[in-house]
Amino acid sequence: MYTNATEMLKKAKAGHYAVPQININNLEWIKAALEMAQELNAPIILGVSEGAGKYMCGFKNVADMVKNLIGFMGITVPVALHLDHGSYDACYACMDAGFSSVMFDGSHYPIEENIAKTAELVKVTRERGISLEAEVGSIGGEEDGVVGTGEVADPAECKMIADLGVDMLAAGIGNIHGKYPENWAGLSFEALDAIQQLTGDMPLVLHGGTGIPEDMIRRAIELGVSKINVNTECQLSFAAAVRGYIEAGKDLHGKGFDPRKLLAPGVEAIKASVKEKMTLFGCVGKA
Ligand SMILES: [Zn+2]
Repeated sequence: MYTNATEMLKKAKAGHYAVPQININNLEWIKAALEMAQELNAPIILGVSEGAGKYMCGFKNVADMVKNLIGFMGITVPVALHLDHGSYDACYACMDAGFSSVMFDGSHYPIEENIAKTAELVKVTRERGISLEAEVGSIGGEEDGVVGTGEVADPAECKMIADLGVDMLAAGIGNIHGKYPENWAGLSFEALDAIQQLTGDMPLVLHGGTGIPEDMIRRAIELGVSKINVNTECQLSFAAAVRGYIEAGKDLHGKGFDPRKLLAPGVEAIKASVKEKMTLFGCVGKA
């Protein structure tokens, strides 16, 4: 069922679990994510960066592919299609293309400008029935040129953005995109707790979900994180599985070169990663 992310995140926040945002890259990625969500009876958010949108030949094509697959595969669990780290213009492009959810990342603007642009988008997304994620910028991160701590947001600024009426809020709590450095200081639960206290029912979003230890993920969910973005993890498991197939020489036997066979282990690997995350996040059976 194609829907926005508002209800699924309200339910997640109230039920103390998190919905994964699985970033998609192609047909195989969408198919794998949808298959697993349906199998586990779990809600899912499919994330698309501007770069991935270009790669998949435009936001319209992505939205059409996702909707067509939902129909063809008979997917009944709630599925949202979400723009990841969108610019102001990309938010409009995705709304026009048929996305059900967008993230406006105004974290690089001064807070006043972030508030003004986010407020404008709250109005437009509400009119169109689309859910909106906003992001609050950092108050630090780098020490001596070494990034051992991720960005940490100011709770008061988080409250200002939350009060505009967004549906979900991304705020740095020491998390980092991509692979975590060896000297990573871990998530700041003090910051998360302060943000959660001020923003109340607002579903909080944790970016950079790959490589955060499981106990930290569980604690973050307890403290109000309701959406966790997973991107790098699926890419790593896909690549490892396809590498294994080729290194075993399987593409050289019979019709092993058939792309449907060549990419099949990668699809299974994505499905396994999605299953692992859904189980950890507690959203299995919550559709
Ligand atoms: Zn992110």
